[in-house]
Amino acid sequence: MLEVKNITKYYGNFLAVDDLSFEIKEGEIFGLLGVNGAGKTTTFRIIMGLLEQTKGTVTLDGKKIDYSQTDNIGFLTEERSLLPNKTVLELAIFYSTLKGMKEKEIEKRLDEYLKRFKIEEYKNKKIKELSKGNCQKIQFILSIIHKPKLLILDEPFSGLDPINVEMFKEEILRLKKEKTIIILSSHQMGHIEYFCDSLVILVKGKTVLKGKLKQIKEDFRRKNIRVIANIEKEELEKINGVISVDKTPEEYVISIENNENIKEVFKTISQKENVTKFVVEEPSLNEIFVSKVGEAYEK
Ligand code: ATP
Repeated sequence: MLEVKNITKYYGNFLAVDDLSFEIKEGEIFGLLGVNGAGKTTTFRIIMGLLEQTKGTVTLDGKKIDYSQTDNIGFLTEERSLLPNKTVLELAIFYSTLKGMKEKEIEKRLDEYLKRFKIEEYKNKKIKELSKGNCQKIQFILSIIHKPKLLILDEPFSGLDPINVEMFKEEILRLKKEKTIIILSSHQMGHIEYFCDSLVILVKGKTVLKGKLKQIKEDFRRKNIRVIANIEKEELEKINGVISVDKTPEEYVISIENNENIKEVFKTISQKENVTKFVVEEPSLNEIFVSKVGEAYEK
């Protein structure tokens, strides 16, 4: 288990992370979210033992994270930073021997992963000859080749085409099944909703929301109703409990305060003609994120 307890980080007088705590069990995927500058990278660096926290503790299976633990960690950084003149195999050997692996084992695992990611032909190609997406595949492989206990994925899907996104998703789910502890950071809320059991949202280093995704959605209370009917937007906006109405080319998306308002919307809609859709939905994580971050900035 990864335990982050009361982490605080000051850069000089500037408070970058303020009393952050969370824990992640084996086989769980945890979302670390926040707008730019919220403190995510600082948190990652502290977890990996690359940066000293001002206060608080980080332990992996009860042990403090220091150089003895770094072989247990994998990190896919947001910056794509591979040495351009090295071949894929040379790079794999370079990075993985640092993690304590033997050359034979590195090549065997590299072959397996290159096959899985359908890029076997690049094994002896130089990094500078690879496309952006393929570089990212190599970087991902290098972050998991040593089978880390803890894997940190910072924006793993940025710049990938939909086929490669699926490939990465499949691999992340495989790692989860193999009981890897995974931290995922992404600005694409759809990916967080797809993978994460629990999450935290940071604003200027402060935790503004934390918990299990399901509970977060229940607590948010707002719901959306998707409607197709012969009705004017203004009429919908006047209904008690309606927060906003969006008109898309296909339908109305009506945001309501809570469950009690469903009845009133239904009453109005049911009196109209050509009602072909009335669907009540949970709010998206994107709506929750925008709302919570917005509230925090207003304070
Ligand atoms: P992004 O999504 O843009 O990568 P982030 O959430 O990773 O942002 P951090 O890089 O952790 O945010 O930065 C948090 C805050 O700390 C920012 O305001 C940043 O300017 C500041 N900061 C980061 N590194 C340093 C440093 N070495 N010295 C001073 N301030 C720093």
